[in-house]
Amino acid sequence: MKVPLLDLHAQYAPVLPAIRQAIDEVLTGHHYIMGPEVKALEDKMSQYLGIKYAIGCASGTDALVLAIKALGIGEGDEVITTPFTFFATASSIWRNHAKPVFVDIDPRTFNLNPDLIEQAITPKTKAIMPVHLFGQPCDMDAIMAIAQKHNLAVIEDNAQGIGSKWDGKMTCSFGDIGTLSFFPSKNLGAMGDAGMCLTNSEDLANKLKQLRVHGENPKYYHKWVGLNSRLDTLQAAILSIKLDYLQGWSEARRKNAEYYYQHLGDVPQIKLPYIHPKAWTIYNQFTLIAEDRQGLMKHLNDKEIGCAVYYPLPLHLQECFALLGGKKGDFPVSEELAEKVLSIPIYSELTTEQLDYVVQTIKQYYKQG
Ligand SMILES: *Cc1c(COP(=O)(O)O)cnc(C)c1O
Repeated sequence: MKVPLLDLHAQYAPVLPAIRQAIDEVLTGHHYIMGPEVKALEDKMSQYLGIKYAIGCASGTDALVLAIKALGIGEGDEVITTPFTFFATASSIWRNHAKPVFVDIDPRTFNLNPDLIEQAITPKTKAIMPVHLFGQPCDMDAIMAIAQKHNLAVIEDNAQGIGSKWDGKMTCSFGDIGTLSFFPSKNLGAMGDAGMCLTNSEDLANKLKQLRVHGENPKYYHKWVGLNSRLDTLQAAILSIKLDYLQGWSEARRKNAEYYYQHLGDVPQIKLPYIHPKAWTIYNQFTLIAEDRQGLMKHLNDKEIGCAVYYPLPLHLQECFALLGGKKGDFPVSEELAEKVLSIPIYSELTTEQLDYVVQTIKQYYKQG
């Protein structure tokens, strides 16, 4: 039996007819840049998340770059974030000429450890950028309290957490700006690149709208040097169709996770994701901490089960950030987990047979060992 890590073919089967029709409507209208479908998606998303303003842009990475720019963060400023995340979290800070300051993670949630944030704050700190990694919400009570105490902005990198909730409230809606990615492998994926910023502040919303079109307003008059980063009309039309399915897909992922908790909970060589009692997670990934990860990976691959390591090298050890002076041993939890984590299939369309096959294959591996 084959179980890919993600099966886009299965995801698209039921939605393709509606998507084809939506694409056809864009092709008839010819509003390729900022067509009415972009505003329609923004309105729909802002309603889904319960956040006042949604500003579409070209990618999740650009959403972060725009968010930092909109908050006026740049040269000489510091932004606190996690080293255990996708590269774009920190590169967006760097690309605005500000300095990413890393803080280690909580070994249970893989997310920024709030107990370590305050000691990293300096007079140059302007913002905290928590990442809701794998869809698991960060402790937003603790993070918002620290931000308020020190008068810092909060940018939530919610690329992996669309629809997740902390204490009953949507991730993305706690900080000054929240960002989304619609990269095809995210829970709400486009058929290409796309992203979005969300905010409850009218001022920030206006600034973000301006920054995504070269910083111009009115046309050909530039107050800031912005980006060319619009959400493509075709992608907006596709995402609007898919957004109607998102809640159902999230629930299916949670059911799949439940299956793993029931059937893998007693395997001593692996730890299943810890979920905080206040967290409602949508499992963009289901990530194990595994003994003998290399061996398990090879076994799963031999049995045609997809799996992947997110992420093998923490950001403070990346060559491009050498100037920041990070070295091995700086963030021991991130470094240890980078060597032990393994994500296994969790996508919505998995069948019970497939889930059972994954469970049996993992059990079989450790029994042999
Ligand atoms: C995917 C991702 C991004 C970047 O999104 P793109 O749309 O690929 O540019 C940023 N942060 C995190 C945590 C991500 O997972």
